[in-house]
Amino acid sequence: ALVGQRYLYNRVWIPDNEEVWQSAEITKNYKAGDRFLLVQLEDGTELSYPVDPAALPPLRNPDILVGENDLTALSYLHEPAVLHNLKIRFVESKLIYTYSGIILVAINPYKQLPIYGDAIIHAYSGQNMGDMDPHIFAVAEEAYKQMARNNKNQSIIVSGESGAGKTVSARYTMRYFATVSKSSSKAHVEDKVLASNPITEAVGNAKTTRNDNSSRFGKYTEISFDRSYQIIGANMRTYLLEKSRVVFQSENERNYHIFYQLCASAMQPEYAHLKLGSAEEFNYTRMGGSTVIEGVDDRANMVETQKTFALLGLKGDFQMDVFKMLAAILHLGNVEIAAVGDERSSISSEDKHLSIFCELLDLNCDKMARWLCHRKIVTTSETVIKPMTRAQAANARDALAKKIYSHLFDFIVERINQALQFPGKQHTFIGVLDIYGFETFDVNSFEQFCINYANEKLQQQFNLHVFKLEQEEYMKEDIPWTLIDFYDNQPVIDLIEAKMGILELLDEECLLPHGKDENWLQKLYNNFVNKNALFEKPRMSNTSFIIQHFADKVEYKCEGFLEKNRDTVHEVLVEILKESKFRNSLSLLMVTLNATTPHYVRCIKPNDEKLPFEFDSKRVAQQLRACGVLETIRISAQSYPSRWTYIEFFSRYSILMTQQELSLNDKKQICKTVLQRLIQDHNQYQFGRTKIFFRAGQVAYLEKLRSDR
Ligand code: ATP
Ligand code: MG
Repeated sequence: ALVGQRYLYNRVWIPDNEEVWQSAEITKNYKAGDRFLLVQLEDGTELSYPVDPAALPPLRNPDILVGENDLTALSYLHEPAVLHNLKIRFVESKLIYTYSGIILVAINPYKQLPIYGDAIIHAYSGQNMGDMDPHIFAVAEEAYKQMARNNKNQSIIVSGESGAGKTVSARYTMRYFATVSKSSSKAHVEDKVLASNPITEAVGNAKTTRNDNSSRFGKYTEISFDRSYQIIGANMRTYLLEKSRVVFQSENERNYHIFYQLCASAMQPEYAHLKLGSAEEFNYTRMGGSTVIEGVDDRANMVETQKTFALLGLKGDFQMDVFKMLAAILHLGNVEIAAVGDERSSISSEDKHLSIFCELLDLNCDKMARWLCHRKIVTTSETVIKPMTRAQAANARDALAKKIYSHLFDFIVERINQALQFPGKQHTFIGVLDIYGFETFDVNSFEQFCINYANEKLQQQFNLHVFKLEQEEYMKEDIPWTLIDFYDNQPVIDLIEAKMGILELLDEECLLPHGKDENWLQKLYNNFVNKNALFEKPRMSNTSFIIQHFADKVEYKCEGFLEKNRDTVHEVLVEILKESKFRNSLSLLMVTLNATTPHYVRCIKPNDEKLPFEFDSKRVAQQLRACGVLETIRISAQSYPSRWTYIEFFSRYSILMTQQELSLNDKKQICKTVLQRLIQDHNQYQFGRTKIFFRAGQVAYLEKLRSDR
């Protein structure tokens, strides 16, 4: 049937090196067995295009569908169609939001748009998602409405790569809730909930080469509502703070914002005892070679940070404790460690920075100097004190700085959470998840592994949710359930988390006294190479492994996995001791999310230069593959992507109906009769109670018939 349509329909997409896909018209009919297609490009060039009969070039959608605000409504559902549709909306109409079924696709405009004011919030409030233009507020409204209607907790899952707009989107959803649920009586609960954002950004965001305000941690914020659906507080959990940034920044990157805010304010008398200076004077803040961000006033932001702390009830004393710890970290980074021969190291008793560090934290300076250069090894029979080399001591100093910072970060989050607890019983909540999307760099390590593992779990949850929704829709419409072949990523999740999987082997190795990254890797090779199709050993490397994730193949370097895993295991222990409840974990997050109704926002970064409304097709296509949008499209394409009510069908295609057909008095029956005549293959559609369900391509075919009339 498709080949038949190909004769009819000659507008296709062919691959293009620059634009990923370009439109073309087939100028000579394709016959089975032909090795080439003759096509004409938009500029008139003719070329013969080699064909693979199993993969004929994808067809273009009829013009009426281009620019649709829901991608799954396209009749031909594939990558070029999706890409083209997004591009037309974004570049020509300056529309940054588009639905893809239940997903909201949000393309970062890199320009302030006048679409977020209170008037717009009120316009979306109380409306149905389908009746309004796609918008982040429509998603927020949908979550709010479903919460109130079904008395069920909701979550909004925002993902995308660095700089795609996750944090901005998450902030807008929170603003939406704060605005629509505003009540005059409460002690500015909404303002306080919103205030949690700038604080966590000051201590958890930093300038990277990809984003001047990059979140270096994941965040799940639960906003609590009472019985009348007004905000009564919030609570957040954070994930995977990038600790290495505290002691190391790559070129053109910065440490966490708060350090620069503090240094910029060093001259003020109330900070004199911190003995700070400009950020240029400290190793931990100057390493990236760029201590300022264009358009950012660190000193003014410090005032804002203090105000926000105060708004949350975190007053002067608390703030000064925080600033002391931060200053201490900066001084620690300037402590000079000298080599004493090849095996030992020492710190001068005159070291100014060490003494300030100790003064700020109230520590004994001699002991500190000694323990930074020595370590204690406890065996069953004895305890030995061993000197450390200069490099080892520098490592120990940095490890201490990271530890202090990560505890400080957790402490601040805990205090904010306390400040966001108000009297009143939580009836329901809406959680907002702002977490890194799937990541792949030239060199990938433990951090990327964790992020990608989390994304596998989120993707699986997404697939199950879509599956369930489809099933419900079919049941509602009395359509016999046709099994859809869903992409299931359980096998890769098993590879990672099942018994004797990657993580269990890692934990085991961590417990061995002489555990090594290389030994663990060898075990992975032994267990999985040629046994698990999703695992590979790179041909040219003995220090890496490759996992086939749902989005892409990723090569991970094994170096550092043990140490970083120990670190998280250790923190887990600390957490358990602290609250007997293990919170900071992916599994708890998944349990929480599973108990909510999810709403998905996928943010797309349209170009790497941060240019307004510039659409780099290659980059967008890459992200669409990685964020599951094409996966939804694939699922839709296998089921019945186009759904028309009988009434819609009747009014659009009455032109194709015969007098005799029109004389029947039941409109529904007319639609059925006409369709059965027009499309002989009955497998291409299903008649539901109120809607007709079409397989991919059928609406395009009907449109073709209509335009030929
Ligand atoms: P990261 O993973 O690095 O934290 P992110 O996805 O959270 O990245 P954001 O910080 O939200 O990215 O966005 C990066 C920048 O893009 C913002 O600082 C802002 O300049 C711009 N931006 C994002 N979304 C919008 C929007 N809706 N309108 C205007 N500008 C936006
Ligand atoms: Mg962010």
